Amino acid sequence: MEIKRGIAVSPGIAMAEALVLDSEEIRIPQRFISAKEVDSEIQRFENAVEDSNRLLAEEIERLEGEVDIHARILSVHRDLAADPALHAEVHQSIRDRCYTAEHALSKVMNRYVRKLQETRSPLLLERVHDLQDVEKMLLSTLLGKRIETLSNLDSQVAVIAHNLTPAQTAKLDPGKVVAFATDVGGKTSHTAIMARALGIPAVVGIDDVSTAVVGGDPVIIDGYRGVVIIDPTKEQIEEHQGRALEMSRISQEFRSQSALPAETIDGHRLEVHANIELPSEVESAVEWGAAGIGLFRSEFIHLQAPESGEEIHYEHYKNVLGSLGGLPLTIRTLDLGGDKLPEGSPDEENPFLGCRSIRWCLANPEPFRAQIRAILRVGVHGPVRLMLPMITTIPELDRSLQIIDEVSEELRSEGIEFDENIPVGVMVEVPSLALVASHVAHRVSFLSVGSNDLVQYTLAVDRGNEQVADLYDPLHPAVLQLISSLIRVGEEHDIRVCLCGEMASEVIHLPLLVGLGLREFSITPQLIPEVKQVIRHLVDYEVRDLASRCMQLSDGESISRELRLWSLENLPEVASRLI
Ligand code: PEP
Ligand code: MG
Repeated sequence: MEIKRGIAVSPGIAMAEALVLDSEEIRIPQRFISAKEVDSEIQRFENAVEDSNRLLAEEIERLEGEVDIHARILSVHRDLAADPALHAEVHQSIRDRCYTAEHALSKVMNRYVRKLQETRSPLLLERVHDLQDVEKMLLSTLLGKRIETLSNLDSQVAVIAHNLTPAQTAKLDPGKVVAFATDVGGKTSHTAIMARALGIPAVVGIDDVSTAVVGGDPVIIDGYRGVVIIDPTKEQIEEHQGRALEMSRISQEFRSQSALPAETIDGHRLEVHANIELPSEVESAVEWGAAGIGLFRSEFIHLQAPESGEEIHYEHYKNVLGSLGGLPLTIRTLDLGGDKLPEGSPDEENPFLGCRSIRWCLANPEPFRAQIRAILRVGVHGPVRLMLPMITTIPELDRSLQIIDEVSEELRSEGIEFDENIPVGVMVEVPSLALVASHVAHRVSFLSVGSNDLVQYTLAVDRGNEQVADLYDPLHPAVLQLISSLIRVGEEHDIRVCLCGEMASEVIHLPLLVGLGLREFSITPQLIPEVKQVIRHLVDYEVRDLASRCMQLSDGESISRELRLWSLENLPEVASRLI
C-alpha cells in the first residue's frame, strides 16, 4: 500500500484497476517477465525492430521522389530505431530488471526525451517528436493486436498518466474511465476543467504517480482530498466507500435545492450561470439550476472535429439553445492554443504567451469567420451572446469587432437571417485589458472576468504547473484590485460584469466577490446549488464591509484567513460542511 498526494481537481471517489498510459494513449498490459523469459523477450524486441524497419523501408521506397520531407522523416525514424545505444539500453533493462520489451523501451525512451528536454535547445527539442513517434511505432508492433487505447477500453479503469491534454481528456468515456491521476497539472488547467465537466474524479500534480503505479494495480482516487492510494488495504477500501456514499448524499441534498433562487437575505437577486465544455452538458446544467450558460467553451467542438465549419457549429449551438428553453447562451469564440492545440500546430516555447485564443483566430480568419456566422445565425432562435476571449489591446478588439461587422454584412447581402443586435462582450483575462477597461466598456455590451487566466497572467504563474501551484492565488490583492476596478467600470458605463473563472466556485471567495459588487457568476454546473445556497445566507451590507476590510490587507494569505474566519462565524452550517 502506498499513498500519493496531489491537487484535487475534480470531486468524487473511485476505485478500479489502473491503466497506466506509458506512451500517448497506448496501454502496456504487462510490465514484468520472469528471469527465464529474458532471452526470448530480447529476441521479441529485436523482431519488432526488424518488422518496423521493413515496413519503414517499404514506405520510404514508395515515397521516393514524391514527398521528399516525409521520406526524410521516416529515414530519421529508421536510423533512430536501429541505434545500437538504444538496443543496448533496452536489452540491459530487460536483463537487469526483468522488464517486458514494451516497458523497457518506454523507460529508455522516456529517459532520452527528458535529457533532450533538459537541454532546452530548440533544435534538440524537435527530436523529441521523432523519439515519441519511434516509440509509438515500436510499441504498436510489439503489442500487435493487443494494442489498447483509451478509445477502445473493454472494462472500467482508473487512468494514470504523466499528463493528459484537454483534448485527450475530452475523449474519455466516463462509463469506462472512473477516475484519473497525473504527474503534472494544476487546478484551473483545461484538463482539470474537462474532468469536472465529465464528472470524472481526478487528482493532478502528483509528481511521480505514473512511475509508482503498475498497470493492473488496484487504486483509489479521491478527487475531494487529492489522494491516490495504490494497492489499498481492506480498511481503506471500506472507509472510502463510506465517504463516497456520504458525499453523494450531500450532493443529492444540494441538487434538491437547485431551483431555489440566488438571492441574498436582504433581497439582492444574483444570477448563477453554468460553464460548459461540451454540448451534451447543457441539460444537466439546467437541472443543477443554471440561469443560463455563461461560458460555452466552443473550442472543444473544433478540437474534436477540426474540419468542423459553420454548419456543425450552428447545429451544436441550436441544440444547446433548444435545451435551454429560453435561458441565455453565451458562446465564447475559439480559445485555441495554450494547452488546447489544434492538430499540426507549430511548437511554441511559451504557448500560453503565444498564438493563443483571439490571436489564433485573427491569424486563422477562416474558421473564425465561419464560427461568427454560426453564432450570428443561431441568435435568431433565442437569447445568444457572443464573447471574445483573451483580448489584450484595443486595436485587437476593434479588429475583432470589425470582422463581426463584415460577417454581418456578408450574411445581410446573402439574405440569410441573423441577429442584428447580438450582444458582444469580452473576457477580461489579461491585466493589460483590465487596466484600459474604460476604453473597452463603450465598445461592448458586457465584460466577463476570466479569473483562471487573469490570475496566471497577473502573477506570472502557469495555471497548469503543479510546481508553482502554491503561488497561484486568486486572492492576491493585485487580482482583487483588477476585479474591483472592472466592477466600477461596469457601474460607470452601465454594462454587466460577470465572473466566469473557477474562483467563484470556491465557497469562501463568494462573500468577498459579492461584497465587491459582482452580481453574476458562471461556474461548473454541479457546484451551482452549493453556490446559490451560500448566496442565500449573505447580507449585502455585511459582505460589502467584509470586502472593504479585505481590500486593506497586503497579501492573499491574510485575506484567505479573514474570509475563513468570517465564514465560520457567519455561515456556520454551510462553512462547517464545505470549508
Ligand atoms: C478563465 O480564464 O477564467 C476562463 C474562464 O477561461 P478558460 O478557463 O477556458 O481559459
Ligand atoms: Mg481563459
